[in-house]
Amino acid sequence: MEKRIYNFSAGPAILPEEVLKESQENLMALPDVGMSILEISHRSKTFDNIFHQTKEDVKTLLDIDDNYSILFLQGGASLQFSMVPMNIMPPKNKADYIVTGAWAKKAVKEAKRVGDVNIAATTEETTFNRIPKQNELKLCGDASYLHFTSNNTIYGTQYQTEPEVGDVTLVCDASSDIFHKKIDVNKYGIIYAGAQKNMGPSGVTMVIYRNDLLERSSDDLPTMLNYKTHVEKDSMFNTPNTFGIYIIGLVAKWLLNMGGLDKMYETNKHKAGILYDCIDNSNGFYKGHAEKDSRSLMNVTFNLPAEELEKKLIAEALNAGFNGLKGHRSVGGLRASIYNAFPTKGVEDLVEFMKEFQSKNS
Ligand SMILES: *Cc1c(COP(=O)(O)O)cnc(C)c1O
Repeated sequence: MEKRIYNFSAGPAILPEEVLKESQENLMALPDVGMSILEISHRSKTFDNIFHQTKEDVKTLLDIDDNYSILFLQGGASLQFSMVPMNIMPPKNKADYIVTGAWAKKAVKEAKRVGDVNIAATTEETTFNRIPKQNELKLCGDASYLHFTSNNTIYGTQYQTEPEVGDVTLVCDASSDIFHKKIDVNKYGIIYAGAQKNMGPSGVTMVIYRNDLLERSSDDLPTMLNYKTHVEKDSMFNTPNTFGIYIIGLVAKWLLNMGGLDKMYETNKHKAGILYDCIDNSNGFYKGHAEKDSRSLMNVTFNLPAEELEKKLIAEALNAGFNGLKGHRSVGGLRASIYNAFPTKGVEDLVEFMKEFQSKNS
């Protein structure tokens, strides 16, 4: 087998080795089926079993009640920026948005095409280096929902707990931290996540959808953009991303075998802690972008004293087998994405590399 290097990519991102191995074996022929997962009908018994087991395992992982539907859609998280307002902003046509980064801004742009958007809070003036505090929120009072981004992939910030919004329907873009810990799904109306960060390959988006919201969806909406279509047809109105769903199923099984999301959360805290400790103990050589109480366990963003040094570190790291550390162009610096599947050993090795780099270059 090709040697695998450490993949710090923000997305599409690292998947568990066990998942890659099992899918590799099944790529020629699924056990007792004799055909590849890529070759079978989405309406076959085999796929039906895979599909239902995947939904069951997702429900188990997040303790999801039966009044929620689990959908696997296409168009990425980006299509949800449109589907959410088109479906659930009426009849009031008003919504609160918390703006904590570039993805949230894109969500706002689409919502404005449907109705009035109230920016309940934004941290743009400090380059999105923190999550707004609860007492900073200015809710409009009669919003159909409040939308927030649980983890800001580009800036490396993350909600520690969801914002409190009273009776307002909570909608969350959880694309880059879904499954990183257990959350109380009952607090939410809709949670959506593109799979390619922390859950699977690109091309499939999971939507956890509270069924009572369906009454807000007008029958005048285009069929494919109406949640009613996908709930009623169980994500099978058209051909879904069968392979993507299959991989999400393997990832869910991997998480369950590991002990579930509480266990995953412990590992994630420990793992990110190793890297943040290195940053905090570097006498200012490494400087974290996010304020401490807003730090992400998934994407660790930091800068060096000079851009030249950042370039040098990225180049030397690449030679040493650490791939994907370049920060997003809008913040510069470095970003280490250390999603669920990223091994603790990889973070330990990176920290060792960073310490050595510091001692040679300061
Ligand atoms: C990556 C990302 C998106 C975009 O996802 P697509 O599936 O490419 O549309 C949206 N929101 C967040 C928080 C992301 O990290």
